[in-house]
Amino acid sequence: MNKIISILAIVLIVVSCSEKKEPIQQSDLELKMNSIAENYVKLVLNIGQYDADFVDAYYGPEEWRANLKSNLLFDSTAYKNLSTKSDELLNELESLGEYKADELETLRFRYLYKQILACKTKIFMLNGVLLPFDEETKAFYDVSAPTHNDEFFQSTISELDKILPGEGDVAKRLNDFKMKFVIPIEKLKDVFEAAIKECRTRTLNHIKLPEEESFKVEYVKDKPWGAYNWYKGNFYSVIEVNTDLPIYIDRAVDLAAHEGYPGHHVYNVLLESNLAKKRNWVEFKVYALFSPQSLIAEGTANYGIDVAFPGDERTEFEKEILFPLAGLDPNDAELYYKVLELQKNFSYSGNEAARNLLDGKWNREQTVSWLQKNALRTKESADKYVSFIEKYRSYVINYNLGMDIVKDYIERNGGTEDSSVKRWELFERLLSTPQTPGGLVK
Ligand SMILES: [Zn+2]
Repeated sequence: MNKIISILAIVLIVVSCSEKKEPIQQSDLELKMNSIAENYVKLVLNIGQYDADFVDAYYGPEEWRANLKSNLLFDSTAYKNLSTKSDELLNELESLGEYKADELETLRFRYLYKQILACKTKIFMLNGVLLPFDEETKAFYDVSAPTHNDEFFQSTISELDKILPGEGDVAKRLNDFKMKFVIPIEKLKDVFEAAIKECRTRTLNHIKLPEEESFKVEYVKDKPWGAYNWYKGNFYSVIEVNTDLPIYIDRAVDLAAHEGYPGHHVYNVLLESNLAKKRNWVEFKVYALFSPQSLIAEGTANYGIDVAFPGDERTEFEKEILFPLAGLDPNDAELYYKVLELQKNFSYSGNEAARNLLDGKWNREQTVSWLQKNALRTKESADKYVSFIEKYRSYVINYNLGMDIVKDYIERNGGTEDSSVKRWELFERLLSTPQTPGGLVK
């Protein structure tokens, strides 16, 4: 734990040092960085042998992966090998503090450093070390999430109580009301296709993508997540949508934008196009799930919904196009959107649930019941959410905190004006350059 903190301190020193020294041959730096990047990719693939979730995407040289196995037992030899490799890479990076770097190279340097730190944390954890929740998020995702007490969530529940139809239990009334906005399963495909088409058009109005980019959507069951983008390389994704729980009408745009345009699919396509292909920066051909990159990915995917649909444009589109396609009555839509707006206040509830569960303060049952009481989740939805925490741990902060960090960064630098071209420019830059969460925070 102390080691991580001291390494974080070194990062800051090295980044600040890189500005002061005399320039040395640019190509030398690039050569050394490329070698570190290659070894970083191999390290991520190696770790993936012990936790398959760690490698979320890989489209680098097949021979680097060819002899790797999965579900290997993590023993002391594995620990020694992997932690030595990660230390070597960190040391090599530190030695590059002598070089003069331009802005993009500095971003690359900082990105690699934080990614390798996350690898090192994962190696510690495979070896049985568990960090407290807030330290785990700092080591994996480069930030810590704020805390919220029960009163914060209960005040939103009081607001919902005032506007929801009927009387009595608010959770039941919320659930009954929302059931009117569930997309019938047989209409899912049409509704999603319309949402994807709209999100794609809006994105292409501002961001140029390679002509061959595409993805396919598959509907699946029995997963702990709501949807998943599996990026395959060559500008192609497979997006899986889980139909275990009811899918409400607003989720169509959520998922189309988050997983597709201008979210995960576009993020991966731009990294591949601008960094992996044009610059041959091989570290972008692998995606380590438990790493700072995920906060950028989830944060941009969530904030991208607002970038693509500023102001009332989203509700207008849903009411005019998606409600009829789903066979839903748009008459109650206004109240539905008010309810959704209030429900956004629950976004940090998952962080509280995860913090208390993972820090051992609550057991599973207590966590499920807390989510039912303070985020008005149904038992089924709370159970599903806790399964997600059990599998992905502190990853949950990436959605809400990630979105707030990206939103704050873009509004701070580009203003809040809905139609601002600057917003799209900043957003595209976040999607196509090596970014770290710490680098976006004021
Ligand atoms: Zn996502």
